[in-house]
Amino acid sequence: MAEPVHITFLGGLGDIGRNCAVLEQEGALLLIDCGIMFPDNDMLGVDVVLPDFTFLLERADDIVGCVATHGHEDHVGGFSYLLREATFPVFGSELTLGLARGRIEEAGLLKRTELTPVADGETWTIGPFDVEFIPTTHSVPEAFATAYHTAQGTILHSGDFKIDLSPVDGRLTDLAHIGALADTDGIRLLLADSTNADQPGHARSESSVGEVLYNLLHHEEGRRVIVACFASHIHRIQQLADAAGAFGRVVAPLGRSMRRNVTMARELGLLHIPDSALISSDDITDHDPGDVMVICTGSQGEPMSALAQLSTGDNRWLKVTDSDTVILSSHPIPGNEHAVTRVIDNLMRSGADVVHSGISDVHATGHAKREELKLYQSIVQPEWFVPVHGEYHHMVAHARIAESMGMSEDRIIVAEDGDRLVLDDDGLRKVGRVPSEYVYVHGTVGDVSSGVLADRQVLSQEGLVSVIVCVDLSRGRLVAGPEIATRGWVPPEESADLLADLAGRVADTLTQALADGTRERPALAKVIRRAAGGFVADRTRRRPMIVPVVLETRA
Ligand SMILES: [Zn+2]
Ligand SMILES: [Zn+2]
Repeated sequence: MAEPVHITFLGGLGDIGRNCAVLEQEGALLLIDCGIMFPDNDMLGVDVVLPDFTFLLERADDIVGCVATHGHEDHVGGFSYLLREATFPVFGSELTLGLARGRIEEAGLLKRTELTPVADGETWTIGPFDVEFIPTTHSVPEAFATAYHTAQGTILHSGDFKIDLSPVDGRLTDLAHIGALADTDGIRLLLADSTNADQPGHARSESSVGEVLYNLLHHEEGRRVIVACFASHIHRIQQLADAAGAFGRVVAPLGRSMRRNVTMARELGLLHIPDSALISSDDITDHDPGDVMVICTGSQGEPMSALAQLSTGDNRWLKVTDSDTVILSSHPIPGNEHAVTRVIDNLMRSGADVVHSGISDVHATGHAKREELKLYQSIVQPEWFVPVHGEYHHMVAHARIAESMGMSEDRIIVAEDGDRLVLDDDGLRKVGRVPSEYVYVHGTVGDVSSGVLADRQVLSQEGLVSVIVCVDLSRGRLVAGPEIATRGWVPPEESADLLADLAGRVADTLTQALADGTRERPALAKVIRRAAGGFVADRTRRRPMIVPVVLETRA
């Protein structure tokens, strides 16, 4: 019997975001990615959603490292949280580490890790695993598929990928090598990106966006062009800069992460913009509008981003007018549609022309569609398959694709966050569950529990009623109050009678409870909450949060 290998999924299976998987052999844990997810609209006041790290933290000493497949936040954004409680080295391409580094540094955690750059085609021994880093195309440069040589054979993780045969940097997905791995020892288990599994056809090549942008600029002579895209999408930025250069425009990066990434990518030799073609945000208005292209952050409508500020006239460097054309070189991630639409509307109110992916092909996805996923299956021919990186319906669609390519249904496992699988001599199966709840983070204050979030939902939908009383516990008497204050419930000036009735009901119930001998403040608070809650529900059919406050006099 060869040593079994366990795979535990902490995030990314069931939602797009917070990707994190753990590979385990002989007691050693190797992470594949450590990402965050951005919150939904109903996660009030939450900045970031993390994987539940409980499983890892119980065995923090066993972590031998983390493989970072590429530099997107849903893959590397979690380090600045996990590294507070565990230390381990991170392996990834130079750009991936560069993108991850900023947040780790901001959190003061750089000394708790060793950022280890790896190059295309290299194999590194990390704990019990030999890990191969295989070039793959995606919407950020230097992304990897990774092959893990384990006691149970080779596990191939596709990473986020598309099969782009005309990549902007000429770095192709190394299908030949993947085919060679499949052909020699075979791929025991494939884990592959499901994001676009329900989309027919092939993803368009990133370089096709360059032509569209070039043609657009042709029609914008004399007008300032402002383009929003992901700050990590270095190839998009390259194509924008090339198009700008062709029309004699200088390029102005706008927004903190855009400026930082442009600088870093130029230093790494991944982005080619001559010094003479680059200007700072301060100098945008020194140039004629027709001579400038502004490249900014905020393509997802993020509230504090450069584009959101431009849309509301709050950007300190630039005001949008009717001589501007704004291009959103992006597609809204599910959940962001509303924010993006609002930004577009506000830009149009300022008089700008707005071009977005709904009216022109100014964006290409970074994730493989159905025909590419079939091609991948046909090359890899895995013995076992687990779809990853998707909502549940994406993963089911991906499972169907594998079946359509000849895989038997019982060799495919659709797993979810928290599932623990074992790969041993008998094959692959689920063997248990680990904690996998959403972990909410609010600013730097710390973790937000789901209880706090439930309170916020009540407050946002029902409002708050506070009831303050003062009692003399020794004599069992209500001394003052009830004072009623409300927020977000009913307008107090129009509801004087209702509030007076409420105060009366609370006073009666409380007096009775005191007469019956109740003397504990928590018990009295409970009496108030019940009396006020029942009264409010009867009279208004609403359930605001009731906050009783019992003060005690010591006469
Ligand atoms: Zn991803
Ligand atoms: Zn990605």
